[in-house]
Order: sequence, then structure tokens, then C-alpha cells
Amino acid sequence: MFRKPKPDIQIKTPEQIRRMREAGKVVARALDAVRAAAAPGLSTLDLDAVAEEVIRGAGAVPSFKGYRPIPSEPGFPGSICASVNEEVVHGIPRASKVLADGDVVSVDCGAILDGWHGDSAVTIPVGTVAEADTAMMDVCREAMWRGIAELRPGRRLGDIGHAIDSYIRSQGSYGNVQEYGGHGIGTEMHMEPHVLNHGKPGKGLRLEEGMCLAIEPMATRGTRHVAVLEDEWTVVTRDGGRAAHFEHTVAVTAEGPMVLTAREDDRAELEKRAFPDPGW
Ligand code: MG
Ligand code: MG
Repeated sequence: MFRKPKPDIQIKTPEQIRRMREAGKVVARALDAVRAAAAPGLSTLDLDAVAEEVIRGAGAVPSFKGYRPIPSEPGFPGSICASVNEEVVHGIPRASKVLADGDVVSVDCGAILDGWHGDSAVTIPVGTVAEADTAMMDVCREAMWRGIAELRPGRRLGDIGHAIDSYIRSQGSYGNVQEYGGHGIGTEMHMEPHVLNHGKPGKGLRLEEGMCLAIEPMATRGTRHVAVLEDEWTVVTRDGGRAAHFEHTVAVTAEGPMVLTAREDDRAELEKRAFPDPGW
């Protein structure tokens, strides 16, 4: 019998987790600023400028800018991904993409501070949005929290995916996008392991104290099937239905899941779920 080699997973010390929280705070502030700015008439490139100013102002570096999954390809041009309505993730910020009342824009943001990464996303309602869009955002956000709640020593990767998928499925006819998912994070933005947003409870890698994972479900109002646009980045739903995306960077600790990209508006949720205080 051969044992499967264990993927190379970075384990952080409490001090390193504290430093990742500092990077996470920068991402949190950038998302707060983008949310405060988002309004009809602004372009997604305007939102990108807001985020970049906050990140650089904090002495950090936007990790998305120039990011290239394939070394020979041109890098990502923005400091955020801004994905509007039927765009799910990886939308390129553009001057020509102007927000309108009733839009939903998913903003994903990453920053590097002193060598440590934070990665977080929120879907923001622009002006007054349809009740069905609010419901979709609520489902996606709750799926994220339920996935995060599984980040405890001894739980398995499959427990995270199962918590996310079973919740989204229980809420009606929402799609749970499967082509993309969460990931390990630390001295790089994308590290082992890949974190599927679906899975079997009790299966997969066993979580250990000191692992840091980005948890990021994507929920759609229609089909879960997606396509990539000709710009080779923007992921859209195949049926044109709207999508939501929420993400936090989280550390597995003995006290429970520590949300390293937590914002002020997450405080009540952390308290309700008795998650450890990440420090503010
Ligand atoms: Mg992200
Ligand atoms: Mg991520």
C-alpha cells in the first residue's frame, strides 16, 4: 500500500496569524471604503482606485495587480476584481463599466503586508436592489459563515464544502458554482489546499491548528454553470442570471475559526457564532 503524499500546507504560528490579521485589516478597510463609495454613476475602475488608495496608504501592496496564474500571460490589471450582475468573479475594473441603480457588484480584494496575504470579497447592492437579489446575497453570505464554522482542528475539508453546498441547496433554486473555490493562503495568495464549495462530510484533508484558508462561495439565482469571457478573466453565468460572492480569510485555531479579514460589520456575526476575537 502507498500512502497519498500530504500536500504541502503552510502551518502558521500564533504570531504569524497575528501578522496575517494586520494584512486582513487592510483588506477590510479597502472593502469598507469601496462599499461606502459604490453608487450609481461610478465605474468599476473608480472603485478600483478607492481600494488601491487604501491599500497603498496602509503601506501594503495590492496582491491582484499583475497577478498571473500562467507566467507567460499578461497579469491582472486591477487592485480589485469587480464583477457586476451576471459576472460571478474575476471582473476587470473598467471605466466603461458604470454602475446603475439596482446592480449588484461583487468586489474581491487582496493585499500583502510585510509578506503576508489577506483575501476577502463582498457583494454590494448599488442603490435599491430587487428583493430576489438581496435574498441571493443573504444565502451566499450565510453559506460562507457556515463553511467558516467548520474551520476547527479535526474537521475535514469535505465538512466545509458540505456545509456550504447543503445550505445553498436547502434555500431554493440557487446555483452553487463549482469551477472555483477557496484556497490556502499565507505567504502566497493561492496555496494548498484547494477548498471545494461542495463535498462529503468527514472526507478529505484533516484541518489542523495554524492552517489558514480563504472560504469563498459563489451563489447564483439560476444555473450554476459559468463561462469565461474573451478577456480571459471575467467569469459569467451561462444563463445571464445574477450572482453573489462572499469571502473571508480564516485561521484554524484551538478556540475556533479566527476571521482575519473581519470588518466592523462582521462583529455581530462573530459574537453570535462565538468565533474568537481577531483583534480590531
Ligand atoms: Mg478573493
Ligand atoms: Mg480567494
